[in-house]
Amino acid sequence: MPFCKECGTFYTRSIGICPKCNEAELLKMHKEEACPNDEEHKQKAKASWLKLILGLPAFILFIAGLYYIWHSLSR
Ligand SMILES: [Zn+2]
Repeated sequence: MPFCKECGTFYTRSIGICPKCNEAELLKMHKEEACPNDEEHKQKAKASWLKLILGLPAFILFIAGLYYIWHSLSR
């Protein structure tokens, strides 16, 4: 039975990695994800705003296009 060199926990080979250390690593990653630095957060917010600003007219154009096609077909 293998054991972790980091914390000495015994684990089954089927897992392949130490579950205790893996959990700690996951928690660390989750914490970093939950509290991103301000600059990154601002950039993400800006990107979502850009998507909305660009996406809304595109959506309206798409609806207008569908309406135009439907109108020309029903004539
Ligand atoms: Zn470990």
